Amino acid sequence: MTTLTPSPPPKPSRPKHPPMTADEAQAFDRFSVHNAAVLVEAAATRGCRCQPYVDWFTYDRWHALGRQVRRGEKSTRLPGFVPVRQKDEATGEDRIVGKRPWVSFVFYRCQTKDEQDE
Ligand SMILES: [Zn+2]
Repeated sequence: MTTLTPSPPPKPSRPKHPPMTADEAQAFDRFSVHNAAVLVEAAATRGCRCQPYVDWFTYDRWHALGRQVRRGEKSTRLPGFVPVRQKDEATGEDRIVGKRPWVSFVFYRCQTKDEQDE
C-alpha cells in the first residue's frame, strides 16, 4: 500500500507579514474611474463580481491581508502615475513636485486563497 506523503512546506524566506498592516493594505489615496472600469470588465470576463478597490489588490497588499495569490494566476496591469516627492529645503517637508508613470500589477479576490490553506 502506498501512502501519499505531502511534501514539507517550503521554508519561509521572509516574515509571514510584511510591515504593511491590513488597514494600510486596504487604503488608497487615489481613485481612478478608468482603472475601476478596467477591473469590473476583467472580473466580468472571469464571471465574478469582484469590486474595484475592495476585491483587487497588489500581491503585497494581499499578503498583508493574509491571502496568497494562487500559483499560475496572471495579474492585471493598471497603468497610472505615482507622485514624485522632493524635500523642500526651506521647510524640510516632503512635497509633491510632479508625477511619473507607474504600472500596478493587481489580482482579484478569486485569484487568491487563504494563506493557511494548502
Ligand atoms: Zn471574483
